Amino acid sequence: MTESANPFESLQSQIDEAAAYLDIDDDVIERLKHPERVLETNLSVELDDGSLERFKAFRSQFNGDRGPYKGGIRYHPQVSRDEVKALSGWMTYKTAIVDIPFGGGKGGIVVDPTAYSESELERLTRAFAVELRPLVGEDRDIPAPDVNTGQREMNWIKDTYETLENTTEPGVITGKNLASGGSEGRVEATGRSTVIAAREAFDYLDTDLEGATVAVQGYGNAGWIAAKLIDEMGATVVAASDSSGGIYNPDGFDPVAAKDHKNETGSIVGYEEGQEEITNEDVLTMDVDLLIPAALENAIDGDLAEDVSADVISEAANGPLTPEADRVLEGEDVFVIPDILANAGGVTVSYFEWVQNRQRFYWSEQKVNDELEGLIVDAFDALVDTIEEHDLDNPRTAAYVVAMQRVADAFEEGGRFP
Ligand code: GLU
Repeated sequence: MTESANPFESLQSQIDEAAAYLDIDDDVIERLKHPERVLETNLSVELDDGSLERFKAFRSQFNGDRGPYKGGIRYHPQVSRDEVKALSGWMTYKTAIVDIPFGGGKGGIVVDPTAYSESELERLTRAFAVELRPLVGEDRDIPAPDVNTGQREMNWIKDTYETLENTTEPGVITGKNLASGGSEGRVEATGRSTVIAAREAFDYLDTDLEGATVAVQGYGNAGWIAAKLIDEMGATVVAASDSSGGIYNPDGFDPVAAKDHKNETGSIVGYEEGQEEITNEDVLTMDVDLLIPAALENAIDGDLAEDVSADVISEAANGPLTPEADRVLEGEDVFVIPDILANAGGVTVSYFEWVQNRQRFYWSEQKVNDELEGLIVDAFDALVDTIEEHDLDNPRTAAYVVAMQRVADAFEEGGRFP
């Protein structure tokens, strides 16, 4: 693992890589590499003992040429200005590759949420919502969950915004509980697109998903749902890890039972008698047919990539491979389904949630899943067409070629203003 790769530099290098295949002016490419604006704020929050603590928080609005800024808010000690900028850029190209009418944004608070009580987290979240109020809105910027945030935080932000604005506007944020205007299928959506994209890749490579072996790094919302769904598709999940370590069973294990164990004990480690305990790195380098990195950025750097033995990687996390890792893996013929496509299910169902909120008309889970499948398969087909058209070794470059063209077209058609 590398601590040093700066995710914002990784994003810019991914953009440069794709620019070589596009007929877009250099000065427009430059625009595509930088956020339009970044809010940096210091939140003062009263803790349960009466003391006051300061938390740094950010919201980056990267690009709004194709629609309102869209992207999650993460709570993590590692959050930084550059990380949030990178994540907002990845959102811009994610919404473009799946062709939903949004731009890209991202937010984060520098905090370890496990160190605070629920009421402290509520005050922190509402304090951030107050700062975000002038920036957000269903036609301006629409936040969502990300690492360590979920329905609870989204409900608080919606409630704060609506109270201050004296309105009802559920579409100001997505990823809410059903009773607060959430969508069926939203919680599962990121894991679902990760496995739909993997299924399409196996089909494209003419290999069988039935009986394929799978390793999953990270057992949060994206990772565990991906494990459950790929198991249901007939693949065998043989290894998984979370922040406490990893487990391995060559015959496969039950992803749901592992999740139950994690809910009870805080970790998947030790859920089954006699199961082999392995490290996070072992999971990433395991000889499997499919690897799903579902934790944070920079999980695989150039050095570790030398040891990666999977044939296909489906990136449930944002930015799990450094540009150096990409270079190593493209030389070794590993098919990497890039994050901006593989994990786009989350924002795609966020889009469906926003549509339902605006129409005040709600869909069945089946309809959500069918519409999601259609958009991910279309995006995968566009990716493959571009790989073949330009004879590309790296699917990520193909994804950026498609996505950057769409963003640049919107900018040019709008008369390059502002
Ligand atoms: N945080 C998720 C992502 O990185 C979802 C964003 C959204 O739903 O707007 O794609």
